[in-house]
Order: sequence, then C-alpha cells, then structure tokens
Amino acid sequence: GNGAQVPALVIGTGYGGAVAALRLAQAGVPVEMIEMGMTWDTPGSDGKIFPKVTSPDKRAYWLRTKTKAPVSNFFGFPIDSNIERYTGVLDAEEFAGITVYQGRGVGGGSLVNGGMAVTPKQSRFASILPSVDAAEMYATYYPRANAGLGVGSIDPTWFESAACYQYARVGRKHAQRSGFAWTFVPDVYDWNYMKAEQAGTVTRSALDGQVMYGNDHGKKSLVQTYLAQALATGRVNVSPLHKVTSVAPVPGGSGYTVTIDQLNTSGDTVATKTVTAAKVFFAAGSVGTSKLLVRLKATGVLPNLNAEIGKGWGDNGNVMCGRANHMWDPTGELQSTIPCSGIDNWDAGGAFAEVAPLPTGIETYASLYLSITRTTRRAEFSWNPSTGKVDLSWQTAWKQDSINMAKTIFDKINSKEGTIYRTDLFGGYKIWQDGLTYHPLGGAVINKATDNYGRLHGYDGLYVIDGALIPGNTTVNPFVTITALAERNIDNILANDV
Ligand code: FAD
Repeated sequence: GNGAQVPALVIGTGYGGAVAALRLAQAGVPVEMIEMGMTWDTPGSDGKIFPKVTSPDKRAYWLRTKTKAPVSNFFGFPIDSNIERYTGVLDAEEFAGITVYQGRGVGGGSLVNGGMAVTPKQSRFASILPSVDAAEMYATYYPRANAGLGVGSIDPTWFESAACYQYARVGRKHAQRSGFAWTFVPDVYDWNYMKAEQAGTVTRSALDGQVMYGNDHGKKSLVQTYLAQALATGRVNVSPLHKVTSVAPVPGGSGYTVTIDQLNTSGDTVATKTVTAAKVFFAAGSVGTSKLLVRLKATGVLPNLNAEIGKGWGDNGNVMCGRANHMWDPTGELQSTIPCSGIDNWDAGGAFAEVAPLPTGIETYASLYLSITRTTRRAEFSWNPSTGKVDLSWQTAWKQDSINMAKTIFDKINSKEGTIYRTDLFGGYKIWQDGLTYHPLGGAVINKATDNYGRLHGYDGLYVIDGALIPGNTTVNPFVTITALAERNIDNILANDV
C-alpha cells in the first residue's frame, strides 16, 4: 500500500524478478513485486484467457489501437487489424530502428514466449558473459534454472509421427540434405499435454494457434513455476497494473523512495503511490530496466550511476525469413505453435535458426525460420529531454550482418532444394523480417554498469537482475541464461548483502 516500508522491492515479474523474489523470500525476506501488466488468470467472454495468434483482439497488445504482427502479410495481403486500446499481453515497443517485442503481465516474457529453453554450448559461454565463471554456471546454475523452469524434451519417437510437427520434419530434411547440424530444442511446454492435444483428449492450446499472445494450457510460464513457489512462501506480494516511475535515495536516510503509478486497463494513471524500500531489484527487462536507469541518471535522480548505463544493447541477432517449398513438401495444416528444433550453423556461419510454425490452419507450403545470429552490433539508450523519452540508437541497416549470417543456411538450402524465399510474409516484397527483435539484451551490462553480480555502481542496495545484464547476445534463445545468471547473482547477494 501507499507509504509502506519494505525490505525488498522487485520491479517486474519476468525471469530475473521471479528468481529474485523466490530466493529472497526463501531466505526470510518479505518481497514486494511491482508489475505494470495485468494478472492473466481470467477467461474472457470467449472462454479463453488469451486470443489465438491468427485472431488477436484487445488482449493481445499493450496499449495499441492496431495489431503489429511479425508476419504482417499473407499472400501479399496485410493482416493487421484495429483493436481496442488495452493493457494487453504483448508490447510491440517501437524505437527508431527496431520494434522490440516484450511480454506484459505477471510472468513477463514467459506469458508470450515460445518456451524454447536452450542452454548455450559451454564452449560459447565466454562470448556471452566473459566475466562470469563458466564452470560454476554449468555445474550449478544452468541445472538449477532448468529444474526451476520445468524444462523438458520432446519424445523423439512421437515426433516422427505427430501430424503437428510435419513442418519440423520437413525443416529437418532440408537442413540435413544441405549438410547442416539439426537439433531438437528443449521447451517448458508440457510435452505430455501436447501429446494429449494431438490425440484429441484435452483442450488444445499449442495445437489451437496459441503463442505470442499467451497460452491457456500446456506452457509452464513463470506463473506455474518460480512465481507459484514464491507466492507459496507467504512472503511475496505482487501488485499488477502498477508501474514504477522513479527510484530515489531517501534524503539523509537509507533506502529508496519508489514512485509507482497505478494504471487502469486503458493505461491511464488512476493513482500515484510511494513505497520505501531498503533494496530495489531492477527486473523490468532489458528495455524496461535500461529506460528507467538512463532517465533516472540523466535527470539527476541517480546521478552516481556510471557511464556504462544504457550501453551494450543488442537484438540477439534476430532475423526471420520464409521459404517456399515444392508441392511435394507440404508443411501441414495442423502446426504446433511450439517450435521443437533448430539448425546450428553457429561456428561456420554465425547463425542458429529455429524451424518456426506458421499456424494458419491451412496448407501454406511455407517454411518459416527465426534465426539468432552472431552480430557484434551494439546500441545505446539515451535520454531525450525534448521528447521526455529514452531513445535507442539501433539502426535497421545493421540487420544486414544478421541477414548475411542467416543466408549461410538458407541460400544453401534453397540452392540444394531448388526453392526460393517467400516474398509475401513481411510486406513490400521483403524476404527478411529485419525490423524486430524478441530477444532484447543489455543496457546495464554485468561487470560494467554493475559489479560482477549485478550491484549497480554508485548506489548500495540497487541491483539489476534481468536481461539488461547480458551484453546483446546469448547464441541461443535467452531466458534460460537470464534465469541461470539471476540464480547465480542472488546467491552472492544473499550471502553478502542480506
Ligand atoms: P521480462 O520477462 O521482459 O520481464 C520484465 C517485466 O517487467 C515485464 O512483465 C514488464 O511488464 C515489467 N515492467 C517493465 N517495466 C516496468 C515498470 N517500470 N514497472 C513495473 N513493471 C515493469 N526466449 C527464449 O529463451 N525462448 C523463447 O522461446 C522465446 N520466445 C519469445 C517469444 C516472444 C513473442 C517474445 C516477446 C520473447 C521471447 N523470448 C524467448 C524472450 C524472453 O521471453 C525474454 O528474453 C525474457 O522474458 C526476458 O526476461 P527478463 O527477466 O529480462 O524480463
């Protein structure tokens, strides 16, 4: 409540925030979690909590009046539609050179993501987090994160026959015929539930076009894992539809005054509250944490933050493309929205490509891919006093690096198969979706803006514990690494600061 004093306040309820809250609470520390998005536990008039990816409504988007789907066109026709402005679950946040997709709600990105839970190869870890002890991460913290998240693997025998993964089997065939390493990708989706969906014995979610705007069933989001455990301690309180706007040192005292706007579902501020916290954990995601810190430093609220604040931001090299298959390679009318496989050409070509679904319900003869690439481009957040907003210096043209790396896979497959790229999926005859990322990383990089465990330089009791710590790339999908790093850092913080 307004005016409260709390030992620990966590901004955001995504991976970093959920780990921090659970481990603090287990150590006996009461935790207040502040989340700008809604709690997603109540079905709408259609009986569903979340809309399908093919029919987004107001629940799908964070305060937009028109949808902004990553696959924006189909057979050349634009598919975005008008919706009511609402505090929906997916934010398509637009900066000058890139749209950054992020989850909004209790559970953060875990509500909207595909659940792909990938531990990077240890040999590549030094390129991800050079200051972090890799041996300790792989012995202790990656296993802890995988267990806590409920990561599982697809039954390889079932995969061979499941209708919903025909698109992935076609993807494998094409990858292998071109000599690429193909691999299953673990996921937090309940694979037994998916088997039952395919068998027709349970209510479908992944097999009913749900992903990106949420899954009613099957996916173990943080709500079912870390956050459930955190709430079960009895020491954690979550305030949804509350947005942190300021964190300021208590004048002449200790701790921080946190200013919070309470929102309604139209996004209007209906009340402003302050809470005093001894410790504040920034877990608002790479963009959310960076925006707060950059503004608070530039406007003199937290002037002692160092010059690394806002730097080291990257897009994890995300780029999408589609290929047009021959008529003898149908990808299936029924497609699981949960990708289960990838093509690994990282060492030779700098790309790891997920074989992605196109769950339209009709045969498309299309193969869709999301590539993660080894781009070295890094952007910076900065405060713009004339607009009162935080800008990001990313340039769309930088994606050419990622396109070139992804082409090391798909040019070869197209040449081997005698196929071409689809030009009807992203508007304007574009082959490459080069305007977005799902994987924002960096902006308050570990061992630069913070110490080697996320303690912000300049202020005792302020911590970063989310994707902002990771400098721009994880070589694979990021949330397992974000979770494992948070587990490592909170261990050190509990041992030394609490
Ligand atoms: P987040 O999970 O983004 O959580 C931050 C939270 O803070 C949010 O809930 C936000 O609403 C809240 N917040 C922000 N600002 C404030 C504020 N000022 N006050 C209060 N609350 C605030 N990754 C994978 O590894 N595998 C995948 O399959 C995958 N698929 C994805 C698909 C989509 C469509 C998207 C968008 C992302 C996907 N990702 C995937 C990425 C993954 O979800 C993110 O990397 C991850 O969620 C980041 O975790 P985080 O803890 O840094 O922050």
